[in-house]
Amino acid sequence: MKIKRYYSLNMYFKGICSHRVGKICVDAGFTCPNRDGTISERGCLFCDEKGSAADYIKRNLPVHEQVKVYLKEKSRGDDRYIVYFQPFTNTYEKAAILKDLYKAVFVNDRIIGISIGTRPDCIDPEKIGIIEDIAENHEVWLEMGLQTSNNKTLRTINRGHTAEDFKNAMELTKGTNIKVCAHVIIGLPGEGPEDYRQTADFLSSLPVRGVKLHHLYIAKGTQTAELYKKGEIKTMEKEEYIKQAGEFLKRIRPDIVIHRLMGDCSEERLIAPLWTRENNSVMDGINGFLKKNNSWQGRDCSSKI
Ligand code: SF4
Repeated sequence: MKIKRYYSLNMYFKGICSHRVGKICVDAGFTCPNRDGTISERGCLFCDEKGSAADYIKRNLPVHEQVKVYLKEKSRGDDRYIVYFQPFTNTYEKAAILKDLYKAVFVNDRIIGISIGTRPDCIDPEKIGIIEDIAENHEVWLEMGLQTSNNKTLRTINRGHTAEDFKNAMELTKGTNIKVCAHVIIGLPGEGPEDYRQTADFLSSLPVRGVKLHHLYIAKGTQTAELYKKGEIKTMEKEEYIKQAGEFLKRIRPDIVIHRLMGDCSEERLIAPLWTRENNSVMDGINGFLKKNNSWQGRDCSSKI
């Protein structure tokens, strides 16, 4: 049996549920202030017209129907599920509407919680109150995009928010049962090892409970695709990503759950790098890097929360 040198999501789920836990992605029909003109119309450099949605989502159905279809067609055995409100900004609505949407996906006892993908500048105390009501009896994660703690890079990729916005959003969740999972990208234009270290240290200094790590990949229909074609941005080599992801894990607090270790893109949409399809070998590579260096998640982290 392979021993993981980081705190994986599977390990976390095993600690809270006797069943296997999976995720069901749903599309609640949101847009994003960084796309509808409120902040900008361009969106983030790497965002496509689907707002980074899973390919299997049946967007034309209400969310509770999407969950039912998934349970009927794709669920296995007696598995339990977290419903993931995935594409675009899933808190970008009036609080009362959000309340009904979030509650609607609890179609039976196999749904043990929700995960809400959003931006740090799209939550407020009223919305946190609604989410906390659900978190009192269910597993609830707020997946907040940070991508990097470097404000210069955040401007370059047109995120439309700052690292300070992320910190302020974290304050709003203080004292609640809501767990924040930060999204981070390694390989953003202009960034290098020092930026990855600073982002890891920034997150470790906050009460973040999870991290989703992605490599920068180029998908069709994005601004990064245009820049890549013109040779203005590059993607990382597989071995370099394995090393930098391993170094990132060394700096991250050991109690932070690692939800992902690389990005995922369908074959039809993927332009580069082609090793994006080698999920298992990259994850094994990162674990192998830690082993070879006699290291583990949090080895070089001094933050304690
Ligand atoms: S915040 Fe998310 S949905 Fe909005 S433009 Fe950026 S990646 Fe797309």
